[in-house]
Amino acid sequence: MEKNRIATNFLILGGFSTAAFLLYNKFKMTKNFNWSEVSRSGTADSLGINNEPNDEQKANAKRLAVKVLQPVRSYLNKPISVTSWFRSPELNQAIGGSASSHHMQGNAADLKINGNNGDIWKAILLSGVPFTELIIEFGTLDNPEWVHVAYNGRNERKILRAERNAFGGVRYATINENNLRLIV
Ligand SMILES: [Zn+2]
Repeated sequence: MEKNRIATNFLILGGFSTAAFLLYNKFKMTKNFNWSEVSRSGTADSLGINNEPNDEQKANAKRLAVKVLQPVRSYLNKPISVTSWFRSPELNQAIGGSASSHHMQGNAADLKINGNNGDIWKAILLSGVPFTELIIEFGTLDNPEWVHVAYNGRNERKILRAERNAFGGVRYATINENNLRLIV
């Protein structure tokens, strides 16, 4: 009798932990990044725009999380806020994003931290993660307004500095990685 009770408890516990694991996988992409962060967009919500990635875009987002975001998060050892990740074409157009934006494939994320956002691009360089495109967006190098990082599987390491000109336009200047490393 006692044996049966233990066996039953084992079964219940086993089923419980399997369910918990499946639930964990449903919400978690990596230790510190959740699936809900991929499609989250205040603009999409307020304009009623569908911003759900398809399977390919989800796979891209997961690659970005696994290869870039989580290692950078672990290197920094502090939370990173993702202010924009996947953008459906409709959302990208609504916020005036570039027509070739990596965000539309789920391959790019805009990042901020509580502190100097420059620590994010420094951590990207120092942690040794691959990236296709890194944009240090507005503000100063030490504390940009946010950092955009994209990875589409190719470690092309293109680095840009975005600045606003006097007429409200945006200017992108290429930065040499070795020069940037001098000030890390
Ligand atoms: Zn971006």
